[in-house]
Formats: sequence, C-alpha cells, structure tokens
Amino acid sequence: MERRALTILGATGSIGCSTLEVVALHPQRYRVHALSAHRNVEKLSRQCLRFAPQYAVVSFPEDAQLLSGLLREAGRQGETEILVGPEALCKVASGAETDIVMAAIVGAAGLEPTLAAARAGKRVLLANKEALVMSGALLMDAVRASGAVLLPVDSEHNAVFQSLPKQPGTGGLPAGVSRITLTASGGPFLRRPLAEFPDVTPEEACRHPNWAMGRKISVDSATMMNKGLELIEACWLFDARPEQVDIVIHPESIVHSLVTYVDGSVIAQLGCPDMRVPIAHALAYPDRMASGAPQLSLAQVGTLRFEPLDPERFPAVALAHQAIRAGGTCPAIMNAANEVAVDAFLSSRLRFDRIPSVVEQVLRAVPVQSADSLAAVLAADAAARDAARRLLHSATGEHVS
Ligand code: NAD
Ligand code: MG
Repeated sequence: MERRALTILGATGSIGCSTLEVVALHPQRYRVHALSAHRNVEKLSRQCLRFAPQYAVVSFPEDAQLLSGLLREAGRQGETEILVGPEALCKVASGAETDIVMAAIVGAAGLEPTLAAARAGKRVLLANKEALVMSGALLMDAVRASGAVLLPVDSEHNAVFQSLPKQPGTGGLPAGVSRITLTASGGPFLRRPLAEFPDVTPEEACRHPNWAMGRKISVDSATMMNKGLELIEACWLFDARPEQVDIVIHPESIVHSLVTYVDGSVIAQLGCPDMRVPIAHALAYPDRMASGAPQLSLAQVGTLRFEPLDPERFPAVALAHQAIRAGGTCPAIMNAANEVAVDAFLSSRLRFDRIPSVVEQVLRAVPVQSADSLAAVLAADAAARDAARRLLHSATGEHVS
C-alpha cells in the first residue's frame, strides 16, 4: 500500500499532537508531509526530528531562524524546509504532494488554509470548527466543486457521521432521519452556583472534567459557546436545519452524539472520551485502524446520565441559534466576537460571565451581510473584532455589562 502524505495544520496543539500519536502507530500507512505551529518552536522541532516532514511552517521569521538553528544543532539541516506565514500554510494545505490535511489550527487563523485544502480537493479532516462556522456556505461549496472529502473530527460530529446512513441526502438530512442530538458534558461549571460565575478564573475554566484540550476550546466548553459553534457546524456538515439539532447534557462524555430515525430508532456512537478515536476514524475512513485509545467498558462506567440544557446558565447556545437562523455573515460575527472575548478572559481583562454579553452586544452592533465570498467573511470577522475590542476598551476597569 502506498503511504499517504499528511499535512497537519496546528501540529503542536492538542489535536495536532493526538494526530501524530495515531500516525506513529501506522508508519506503513502515512508519512508526515508538513507540520505547522504558531509559536511553539521547541515542540515543533521535536516533531520535525521524529517525523522528518518535508516542510515545517511557522508564523514569524524569527521563529523560522530558531527552528532552523535547533534542527542544525541536531545535525538534521536540509531535511525539512522551513516556510513562514499564512501563504505557506495554504501552500502546504493545497500542494500536489499532500493527500490528507488535518485542519487543527484554532480559530479564524485556520480558515484560509482549510479553504485552500478543500478547493484543492484534498481529504480534509476538520477539527477547526471556527472555519466552518465562519464560512459554511463557501467551504461546503468548495468541497462539492472540487470533490474534496470533508470528514468531521469534532467528537460529536464524527459520532453523527458514523451514525447516519451511508447514502447521503439530496438536500436536507438523509431520508429516514428525523433529528440529530449533540451531547454536551456541560463543562466544569455544570453545577457551580451562578452567583460564582463572575469570579471564575482562567485556570478553573480550562480544567475540563473529561477532555484535555487547548485553552480556547476549554473556555468555549465552560461557557458552552462550544456547543453553539457545534450546532452551526452540524447544520453545515449534515445539511440540517437548526431546529433539527437537539442538545442534551451528558456529563460522562461516553455517548458522543445520536441520530434519531423516523421509525423511532436511535443510533449513537460511544467510546472513551479520547480524541484519538475520531482522529483515527477520519484518517482511516472507510477502513478502521487502532487509535491507541483505551476500549470502553460500560460495566466500569456504570451510569450514563442525561439532562436538559439550562439556557439561563448557558446563554451562548441561544446566541448561536440566533446567528445560524440569521445566516449570512452572522455566524462569522459571533465567532469573532467570541474569540476576542475569550482571549480577553484568558488574559484577565474580562470576567467569565461577561463573555456571552460581549458576543450579544457585538451581534447587535455589526450589520449582517451576505457571506458569498471570502472577502465578505473576512470583512465581517474584522468588523466584529473591532466592535468587540471597542466594547472591551470602553469598559476597561469596570468590565463590560
Ligand atoms: P490548541 O490551542 O491546543 O492548538 C492550536 C494549534 O493552532 C497550535 O498548533 C497552534 O500553534 C496553532 N495556532 C494557533 N494560533 C495560530 C495562528 N494565529 N496561526 C497559525 N497557527 C496557529 O487547540 P486544540 O485544542 O488542538 O484545538 C484545535 C482546533 O480543534 C480548534 O478549532 C478546536 O475547536 C478544535 N477541536 C479540538 C478538540 C480537542 O479535544 N482539543 C476537540 C474538538 C475540536
Ligand atoms: Mg466537540
């Protein structure tokens, strides 16, 4: 079997590292073609020494120098070509020598290379949900036009993908399917008294009960904006209307999501909460291969609980509903406002409970346009970031209300 060439965008992150762990189990199937990192050059250099990619991409010229020095010290200069900046990300995501692209950059920075991979007809493993939320129509059109294969890595969407019938729908959910249910752990603050939300620290918000993830998605899980983003992600991936997607709290994170059929059957995918499972599924699809994750023992888990979402505790989910129903650039505006608010919270410039109110105020302030071009999406993203920063700035010292 010829080895398939893999590009990992965001190789040094949580998903990127888990992907490399899975790939290391299957050297006969995959070779690492390109790896990218934003700032963590030391980790990237260790990955380069282990996997010998043809290209490594970093964001800044000084980091390229640093990486080059580290590889030279290890006696491995010339083996990996070092590239810099956003165009280089698009190049390694779309070039003829790559077969599979793991899109695992966090946030809007991942949009352009993910779109480039889709336009070039690659097998795109999508972890970067923000890219799809921002530009759902563009990305799905690009996939259809180029014949790219888009496979969801987000555990809920990977579960839905595994639980749907094999024949795709011809507009809308496939025949016989009535609804999709996304499960949500509820994050670290499912039971925390609401009165304590203003005092939540970044460290507490990043301590997820079931998953070890990057800081941005950890905060999104704590506010449940993550589930809002995933609602929008599900609408695009599966051609569902927002009212066909339910959310249920499931604190154990064992049932990763469910599909309900018109006859009352419910098909779900279960497994230990370990991202190597959906990553290995998406890499090998339609085959199966070992992921390195432990096998699930239901007897050991014992109890699986389910409960409704409390909209007062987690107002971010309703904001996402509103954004997908409004359509156009509204989800991109919501995403950008959330990115700015989460960043401000992580650097202690915004209270945890104010994150949804910043998003809500930006949604009210920035006009929605049609999202029919990359330029329109990027303009909405920029306008929303401006609006969010102005809000934060005007409220410095007294927090946004
Ligand atoms: P992370 O913060 O651990 O890693 C992010 C990666 O993106 C790093 O390699 C970083 O160097 C790179 N990056 C960050 N900013 C960049 C920029 N401006 N330009 C270029 N590269 C940049 O995040 P993560 O937890 O691995 O999540 C990655 C994506 O996958 C997110 O969109 C997240 O929502 C999604 N996701 C993650 C998980 C999980 O379990 N971690 C689960 C589902 C979906
Ligand atoms: Mg998820």
